[in-house]
Amino acid sequence: MNKNAALKKGVLYVIATPIGNLADLSARMRDTMQQVDVLYAEDTRHTGKLCRELGISPLMRSLHDHNETDRVQEVLDRLRAGETLGLVSDAGTPLISDPGYRLVAACHRESIQVSPIPGPSAVITALSVCGLPTDRFGFYGFLPARSVARRELLATVANATATSVFFESKHRLLDSLSDISEVLGVDRRICIARELSKTFETIVQDTAGVLLERVRENANWQKGEFVLVVGGAPAVVAEFSGQVQSLLLAIAREVAPKKAVAIVAEHSGLDKKMLYDWLVEQKNA
Ligand code: SAM
Repeated sequence: MNKNAALKKGVLYVIATPIGNLADLSARMRDTMQQVDVLYAEDTRHTGKLCRELGISPLMRSLHDHNETDRVQEVLDRLRAGETLGLVSDAGTPLISDPGYRLVAACHRESIQVSPIPGPSAVITALSVCGLPTDRFGFYGFLPARSVARRELLATVANATATSVFFESKHRLLDSLSDISEVLGVDRRICIARELSKTFETIVQDTAGVLLERVRENANWQKGEFVLVVGGAPAVVAEFSGQVQSLLLAIAREVAPKKAVAIVAEHSGLDKKMLYDWLVEQKNA
């Protein structure tokens, strides 16, 4: 464990901050925010309040969606001159549905070092408690505000077997649950993660139909910040028929056996080991 590494010159530190509970802030986040030459913040008033609570007073400049393009050159110039800079958003991990992408991309283009100070993000926090498969997931940011666009996006994930994660606003939670129930079906399992790490934290997992009714009946659930985690579509497991066997043999003539097995397993939902054992048997026969 490297506990006391000094900050490096000419590096942009991308610093996560708590998503609701100040006690989740680490010593490293605080020290980095304090020690950088300039701390670029999505909202300097918001981050100023956090800094006051932490007893630090870094020099701050704003960097938000509306001035990021203009700020990039300034930040690059400072980094090239050897300054050490920090980037924070209002809460959670910068760049995750927050500003910073254009800046970090520009740093990479200019071979300037970017270093993360890891910490909370509502996405991973929600996944950690959703009780739905997390081995594969897709994150889609905020669900679109308009129902037509929202339904279109939902339709694109309807058959995905991986879990999908969305941010949602309190104003649209009910409408979105209603669209999820219609587009993905009332039986699709979902998790609503509300006010994570805060006083009114609520985490529930059930079918879309049940949660739609529960939220409709309880106005309190329409307050606060939300992450919606949507379970994947059930994998359709193909039969290990003659057709699948011929396909596996044909693919295995073109690519390595393991690769052939992986391709067929992904598209058929069949077990990799079973396919591999069968393929080896055929080769030895
Ligand atoms: N970059 C942030 C992160 O890594 O968590 C996310 C920023 S995004 C602009 C803000 C959205 O994240 C909120 O509208 C909400 O959907 C979700 N969110 C943030 N904090 C949350 C919390 N404590 N509980 C539930 N959702 C949260």
